[in-house]
Amino acid sequence: MKRKQFKAESKRLLDLMINSIYTHREIFLRELISNASDAIDKMYYKSLTENTGISRDDFFIRITADKETRTLAIADNGVGMTKEELESNLGTIARSGSLNFKQESGEKARDEIDIIGQFGVGFYASFMVSCNVRVVSRAYGEEQAWEWESAGTEGYDIRETDKDSVGTEVILTIKENTEDETYNEFLEAYRIRGLVKRYSDYIRYPIKMNFEKQRKVDAPEEKKKDGEPEYEKYIEEETLNSMVPLWKRGKNEITAAEYNEFYRDKFSDYVDPLRTIHTSVEGVISYDALLYIPAKQPYDYHTKEYEKGLQLYSSGVLIMDKCPDLLPDCFSFMKGLVDSQDLSLNISREMLQHDRQLKAISSRIEKKIRAELLEMLNKDREKYGEFFKNFGLQLKFGIYNDFGIKKELLEDLIMFYSSNEKKLTTLSEYLSRMSAEQKYIYYAAGESVDKLDKQPQTELLKDKGYEILYLTDDVDEFALRVLDQYKEKPFKSVSGNDLGIEESEEEKKEAERAAKSNKKLLSAVKEALGDKVSQVKLSQRLKSHPVCLASGEGLSIEMEKVLNAMPTEEKVKAERILEINANHPVFAALQEVYASDREKIKTYAELLYDQALLIEGLPVEDPVAFSNAICGLMETK
Ligand code: ADP
Repeated sequence: MKRKQFKAESKRLLDLMINSIYTHREIFLRELISNASDAIDKMYYKSLTENTGISRDDFFIRITADKETRTLAIADNGVGMTKEELESNLGTIARSGSLNFKQESGEKARDEIDIIGQFGVGFYASFMVSCNVRVVSRAYGEEQAWEWESAGTEGYDIRETDKDSVGTEVILTIKENTEDETYNEFLEAYRIRGLVKRYSDYIRYPIKMNFEKQRKVDAPEEKKKDGEPEYEKYIEEETLNSMVPLWKRGKNEITAAEYNEFYRDKFSDYVDPLRTIHTSVEGVISYDALLYIPAKQPYDYHTKEYEKGLQLYSSGVLIMDKCPDLLPDCFSFMKGLVDSQDLSLNISREMLQHDRQLKAISSRIEKKIRAELLEMLNKDREKYGEFFKNFGLQLKFGIYNDFGIKKELLEDLIMFYSSNEKKLTTLSEYLSRMSAEQKYIYYAAGESVDKLDKQPQTELLKDKGYEILYLTDDVDEFALRVLDQYKEKPFKSVSGNDLGIEESEEEKKEAERAAKSNKKLLSAVKEALGDKVSQVKLSQRLKSHPVCLASGEGLSIEMEKVLNAMPTEEKVKAERILEINANHPVFAALQEVYASDREKIKTYAELLYDQALLIEGLPVEDPVAFSNAICGLMETK
């Protein structure tokens, strides 16, 4: 018999297949099982339309591994292939019988069955691990069986053979181990079980395999050697796959314990998730999603090693373990999976051809997560607090990143500590407590709530009873700057140059008068400090404290600290405005010195400035001079 050649282009394609299309060799098994499942689907479809004498429960896929002959066989009792089909389906690479079947069968079949194959290349993945492949097949309605055999690019043979029942058996002769590559693993029953669990757990027909096990023999006492129990080997058949994916079952049928166990098992966590989201969407793109909010931060969450993403299934077959495109960065902590029949996969089923579909799914998932978080926020504040402790930072980064592209998605989900409520509050809650005269949402940024609570800059606002948000994470002020406003109420820093509080005519006049009468003194202080400050002025916001720093329009002093702590070479500097409290006794002392001892103004100015720096948590520029100046003052007393 003459060996048949693969079609010329097929030859090159086969070479490509074997060497480069797939990144993981192990997926050959997924491909063969998917083919078997497709063949059974076709048979099942036939049994719906004609009397085949087969019921759905009769279908199975069987895997047999034999180390001695180095063969791994995958058998199914699906439709099988005729001689012509073996030729055309396996002799021409990139020809998919399944795709034809789908096209020919029309709408009805498409709804009832759910065939996986469509590219006509999956089968050839076998050559990545095999030196020889035999396909023994008997088609439904035929008596004669046929065998197709190939050792790779050289071509294939087809010959008559015997087979008792309808169906197909693919028998791989697994390659020998080489120095760099191991293939023996594909003959290990336990490894095969792992691969089935990983890639084909939700194939809807049982995937069976025999396992050799040991058990104690219940032998009479006298027969036992040396009183030791005897063991015997026996074979047990196991079904390797779960068949029905959890997410395909009705929500009412699934218990919380099942959801949780699935999560711990699939996503390797040792604690139950904080919340489970299970949703099915029907539409232009239909999908099921099972999502989890972890109760704890993954241990590597803040490292470069952490990979965000959801598992992506296409009709129950795992396509990608961590599909990053399904999750925006702000929700990178989410775990879970998406299963859709509507994805157009590319040849290797590894990446997707059109990310338009993924984008559509991703944007719906994003909204769903937001809605669930909002519900938790409104109905179970304590739980939301736990969530926020773990992942709030991610949400705030989400607002800041990409110039605020996700700000609408996230602005209702963030919380800050409230000066009045003494706990975390949302922006919308802040707004609901705002008085009619208050025009801005005020915030103070700093190291800790304790320190912020004592900040001199907040005195006037507190006096008025205005609520202040205390921002203690580095990203906070940057995020609010990106937000700019919330429901048309702009944000304002308590350390900004202008607090935006309207003064009465009388207050205005009084301020102007004080500024005018102290103009020379203030210029003298400014002159003494030189470039360190851009302005020296009398403060409207201080009540009991003598001095503070305010910043100009651009960077705030807190932002300066955050940016300068980053490992960039260029250091930034916020504009500094020194504010002095005209009603403080120290100001009177300053006036006195100005009148009597002009020389001392420099010392006083520097001392005031250094104190303002210390209050801000900034280092004084010359600590020795600062100490000497203080001692000098102490000695004169
Ligand atoms: P695909 O599954 O993407 O169509 P394959 O290269 O894996 O591509 O298979 C080519 C064709 O061979 C399939 O479409 C199907 O018609 C046929 N085939 C493969 N395996 C089997 C099988 N176990 N039983 C029946 N037909 C099969």
